[in-house]
Amino acid sequence: MSYVDEVYELVVAKNPAQPEFHQAVKEVLESLRVVIEANEEKYRKDALLERIVTPERQLLFRVPWVDDKGQVQVNNGFRVQFNSAIGPYKGGLRLHPSVNLGIIKFLGFEQIFKNSLTGLPIGGGKGGSDFDPKGKSDREVMAFCQSFITELYKYIGADTDVPAGDIGTGAREIGYMYGQYKRLTGLYEGVLTGKGLSYGGSLARTEATGYGLLYLTEEMLKCNGKDIKGKTIAVSGAGNVAIYAIQKAWQLGGKPVTCSDSTGWIYDPDGIDVALLKEIKEVKRGRLTEYAAARPGAQYHEAGSSKVWSVKCDIALPCATQNELDLEDAKALVANGCFAVAEGANMPTTMEATEYFQANGVLFCPGKAANAGGVATSALEMSQNSERLSWTFEEVDSKLQGIMVNIFHNLDDAAKRFGCEGNYVAGANIAGFLKVAEAMTAQGVV
Ligand code: NDP
Repeated sequence: MSYVDEVYELVVAKNPAQPEFHQAVKEVLESLRVVIEANEEKYRKDALLERIVTPERQLLFRVPWVDDKGQVQVNNGFRVQFNSAIGPYKGGLRLHPSVNLGIIKFLGFEQIFKNSLTGLPIGGGKGGSDFDPKGKSDREVMAFCQSFITELYKYIGADTDVPAGDIGTGAREIGYMYGQYKRLTGLYEGVLTGKGLSYGGSLARTEATGYGLLYLTEEMLKCNGKDIKGKTIAVSGAGNVAIYAIQKAWQLGGKPVTCSDSTGWIYDPDGIDVALLKEIKEVKRGRLTEYAAARPGAQYHEAGSSKVWSVKCDIALPCATQNELDLEDAKALVANGCFAVAEGANMPTTMEATEYFQANGVLFCPGKAANAGGVATSALEMSQNSERLSWTFEEVDSKLQGIMVNIFHNLDDAAKRFGCEGNYVAGANIAGFLKVAEAMTAQGVV
């Protein structure tokens, strides 16, 4: 059996009931096959793959907190410190009822290669909880965040592990977590990113993932003789990534016509009204039915019956959650003339759908490259915190743009070098892996 297959089987056997983690490992290892086979003897002897698929440390903890009725609630807390070969662990905290260890491990594993692709010195990690901030009062969210950090603070720090936001963890949650960390440790340091601007946050961090997604998409199109201008774009999600992807899509001359949340989705033939979407999602924390009520030309569809991918578009940007775009969706997109897909979310496209896109000549960029603008700007926030300086919006945005363009060329070159030109999934995995593998080899058996 090949080394790749052996290690994949080992992962499945050692990590039962973690399908998302298995899926992420399979996708990465499959596309690394050509690199692994060229170095099989050495990698095997060093157990390099066994080490890279095993987190350096996994923290599982109880998060008790008191709700507004005086009732004690208990959630599960997670932090997976996956790989620190090229820098301190870095990766977001997801707060969503679906969170379990397998999901955090899939996200942490992906994060290793994503962070490596940015070219910045950051290792891979991820964390979160099955706590759902939706429908909770601010006081309840604060109580949860304080309890979460009261355990986690022992294991994180500006030079060891720097968590950030993700689904359900926005500026409010990061603020409560930072306050509690500071109170417990007495340290005013860059231990979390995505902080508010008044206490060490970076300008453009809020916009970074969505903007970065569009910068990379633009570069991918340009290198393939295409352009965003005048193109119809289908976006899923209505959170941080989706909102700023929609905003930048407009700025680059595209026309984003859809967005979604977990209860329904919008098709707005005139193009999504970003100001209205922001008001509903960022200010009121409301639902998309309010969008349809305010825009008579827009159509609202309940989730479940259909998805944004049924709309005719040129470019698709999945920005909600994992496995939200399956083979049926991919077929509908291709039949409707969609020629490019870039993932704003982490692993939103199933493997079958990815393969279908690739087989049908659709330009496809995986999340670990396309959404790396968020973590890259988090790393820029860390730099500013270390310097005790704040850069201007333009400075951060222009660095972000440069990073996204570099990421694209990095993975494009890797794909060409290893004989799979145009396969950006393989290119991203290979480019991300090679740097981490070299650092791990240089650092010995640790
Ligand atoms: P948010 O919580 O801000 O928004 C998530 C959006 O997706 C919401 O509209 C949410 O709807 C929807 N959504 C979440 N889960 C589901 C589901 N199971 N079914 C349908 N819709 C769902 O998260 P972000 O925008 O920050 O993150 C979106 C994705 O991007 C995630 O995969 C995240 O890991 C990834 N990502 C985020 C980065 C960042 O900087 N924020 C960086 C890199 C990747 P509802 O509100 O109804 O739940």
